[in-house]
Amino acid sequence: MTAKTFTGGCHCGQVRFECTSDLAMVTACNCSICTKKGLHFAFVAPAQFQLRAGDENLREYLFNKHAIRHQFCIDCGVEVFARGRKPDGTDVVALNVSCIDGIELAKLTMTPIDGRNM
Ligand SMILES: [Zn+2]
Repeated sequence: MTAKTFTGGCHCGQVRFECTSDLAMVTACNCSICTKKGLHFAFVAPAQFQLRAGDENLREYLFNKHAIRHQFCIDCGVEVFARGRKPDGTDVVALNVSCIDGIELAKLTMTPIDGRNM
């Protein structure tokens, strides 16, 4: 798939974003938070992710080593994205692909990630 620009947001619609990705790599991760929240992430460079609305409606959730800064809407509770750093130190945005407008998870190719044992 070639890179496309997607729009999306949280469930109540106060947090909105635009993101460019080919969605070639979408995680199906077995770590505690991905399992409990049903998260499927696509990783994009920060320049390819723009928050269009709702910055003030986001709350950050941190756990474990605080390496990944999970961002969720304080009204509807949906986690839209997370900010983190790649092993080489560059910033990365982990987009919750379930927040993309009109997305159909069953049509995506998921990449299994063994986050539980990392
Ligand atoms: Zn919301």
